[in-house]
Amino acid sequence: TQARAAAYLDKLNPEQRQAVETLDGPVLMLAGAGTGKTSALTARIAHLIHTGRARPNEILAVTFTNKAAREMKERVGRHLGGAIEGMPWLGTFHSVCVKLLRRHAELVGLKSNFTILDTDDQIRLMKQLIVVANMDEKRWPARQLAGLIDGWKNKALTPERVSGRETAAFDNRGSELYAAYQDRLKTLNAVDFGDLLLHMVTIFQTHADVLAQYQRWFRYILVDEYQDTNVAQYLWLRLLAQGHKNICCVGDDDQSIYGWRGAEVGNILKFEKDFPGAAVIRLEQNYRSTEHILAAASGLIAANEGRLGKELWTEAEGGEKVRLIGHWDGEEEARWIGEEIEANQRGTRSRAPVSLNNQAILVRASHQMRAFEDRFLTIGLPYRVIGGPRFYERLEIRDAMAYFRLVTSPEDDLAFERIINTPKRGLGDKAQQRIQIAARENGLSLLDGAKLLVAEGALSGKAGGQLRLFVENITRWHDEIAQASPATAVTRAEDDDLLIEPAEDGVAPANDLSHVRLAERILEESGYVEMWQNDKTPEAPGRLENLKELVKALEQFDNLQGFLEHVALIMDNDKSETEEKVSIMTLHAAKGLEFPVVFLPGWEDGLFPSQRSMDESGLKGLEEERRLAYVGITRAEALCTISFAGNRRVYGQWQSQMPSRFIDELPPAHVEVQTPPGLYGGGMNGGGFSAGAGSATMEDRVSRADVYNSPGWRRLQSAQSRGISQPREARHMTIDASGESDYEIGDRVFHKKFGYGEVMGSEGDKLVVEFDKAGEKRLLASFVVPAAD
Ligand code: ATP
Ligand code: MG
Repeated sequence: TQARAAAYLDKLNPEQRQAVETLDGPVLMLAGAGTGKTSALTARIAHLIHTGRARPNEILAVTFTNKAAREMKERVGRHLGGAIEGMPWLGTFHSVCVKLLRRHAELVGLKSNFTILDTDDQIRLMKQLIVVANMDEKRWPARQLAGLIDGWKNKALTPERVSGRETAAFDNRGSELYAAYQDRLKTLNAVDFGDLLLHMVTIFQTHADVLAQYQRWFRYILVDEYQDTNVAQYLWLRLLAQGHKNICCVGDDDQSIYGWRGAEVGNILKFEKDFPGAAVIRLEQNYRSTEHILAAASGLIAANEGRLGKELWTEAEGGEKVRLIGHWDGEEEARWIGEEIEANQRGTRSRAPVSLNNQAILVRASHQMRAFEDRFLTIGLPYRVIGGPRFYERLEIRDAMAYFRLVTSPEDDLAFERIINTPKRGLGDKAQQRIQIAARENGLSLLDGAKLLVAEGALSGKAGGQLRLFVENITRWHDEIAQASPATAVTRAEDDDLLIEPAEDGVAPANDLSHVRLAERILEESGYVEMWQNDKTPEAPGRLENLKELVKALEQFDNLQGFLEHVALIMDNDKSETEEKVSIMTLHAAKGLEFPVVFLPGWEDGLFPSQRSMDESGLKGLEEERRLAYVGITRAEALCTISFAGNRRVYGQWQSQMPSRFIDELPPAHVEVQTPPGLYGGGMNGGGFSAGAGSATMEDRVSRADVYNSPGWRRLQSAQSRGISQPREARHMTIDASGESDYEIGDRVFHKKFGYGEVMGSEGDKLVVEFDKAGEKRLLASFVVPAAD
């Protein structure tokens, strides 16, 4: 087994080998994406164990995600050709610190069985403290305080250490409230996430004996993704490593993407100062990506200032250029990507088949996922969302859906319970119990039980008033639906057995959007939107975006009920975990991962780079966005596709989008511009099969020329003038301005309810389709999508 165990060394290049074999003293491995940093780190752990330098439980290794930690453990096991006796100290900063803190909780006034609060608990506590402090909750919301305190904890500042300008925060009372909050946590025997590190740093700083014990115990320390450590994490590491200085940190300044959460790239730069004589190892060969992908990423990141600067090369010459494609709108982008994924799965003339597991979509903002999830459900393409809940499982989406459910079905008690006190209406456990009792005793739904209490005036004070308002609102919204539905509801193909006739003027029945307006009003008038607007945590803007996206999704349906059914279907779609699936995740969650095929959608100014980073004075935010783009491109091994949409629909209005400024920065020699399918779709509608719905007129939309005349697009196109080919998507375009369908007889199509079928004939925008299972139907072309060839 000796020979087999050492095999992990043979696979390494000389620089990696140096990083693995320089066991004593500080080592800094600073290298670009895909150069084998994580591989070397893993081999180093194996080597420490194999050479007997340390037992597995004497090695402290921190990575960024639990997934990465699991993979690292497995790989170490494989390197050593068999089982290792566990590595208790290989994990995330948080998981390691929880374990340590349980051992020494009493040193910071806690018991070892302390609980870890989630954000909701945290906010509730802070709210109480703000009230006690006689501050106006409206002006000084708890969520803002939470953000402030988290920030201090990331910088390892205890209440006593908050000083200087920072003390002016939160009406000059931030640090006072911070102290009160920490006291309160102590009384509750609880900590929040930030405390895990903060308490450990405090313990190490105040108890030399404890620190010395761990300095001896952890003989070797290893850190992956070092560029994303915050000050507290950095201090903690430095304290632990100060004795033997056997610390190996691995990172890439170009991939620092957590500045918004307190990470400091400066930690990399400080390393050499803190650990003089550190061996600095640079890796330059990229083993992950082909030449064009690497060159595109390197070209882009070169626009950042103040980089440490690195050259990367790869032996994988040639390959496909990074593809760049513009779409008419976001729905079309999702449709196109879905088709590409299926084509890759089957294999094409120029590409071998790629399994779904090897394809990924990386988005800038989580609300972008919705269009893909809906689309993939429609075409039955299995997907998984990594590093977060799927769109419809998100907290804010479930809250909003509960409002919609209660408004459409007032007897939905689960929905009632979810939102009766969200946002907070002073209807706590006691009030809710009384509603429960009233409902049970009278055989009523909770909503009716609440109505009864209101009628009897059973709840006094603020709670009573709030409950009255709540039931009145729900009842009013419910009545509005009832009034609106019969008159304006439009039957869609899936509700109708056979025939969809266009209205008399020959135009497809316009989708009445009153339910969309109503949904918007529900979210606003209930105070739900305001709750997140007042929220100062970093997640809040994302949640508000998700809510907008939810309302947008509603536009594709004729009423709330239909939409709720659709979502119920999505939630039911969860097949077994072993099935092959395409991955959808945010760029942040993609760190350290790699996929043969990567799609990067939504490269539009305001989305990527984010509006916030563009509004900011200075380049800090923009440069972090650019690093995020670099992380995205460098996840791809063989095929990387960047796309953008010229239009996105927001609240029923078309909003024109400009291609991302990052597109201008891609080196043209390594990019192939693909002609947008919509250009061949004919007519002003752009050919997106979903473009027929909605109330937008053509004037609302930016002209295609505006989009494609942007400097970057033109530059790329001129560099590429040879390479434009007739896209095969062209014949898939359905409706154009004159109401003609582009389907030809014999085309295969797919319909949500009827399944697959073949076009037998067409007339205007109507098709006659012979469905494999459902037989012959006549329907609007916009209700089917082209089936994969
Ligand atoms: P990132 O910056 O994205 O985290 P990384 O530097 O950690 O990337 P790894 O994930 O370790 O890079 O390696 C990238 C790919 O290169 C992996 O598929 C890995 O198996 C492969 N690889 C690493 N080192 C070598 C090597 N010496 N020879 C061949 N392939 C290698
Ligand atoms: Mg890595």
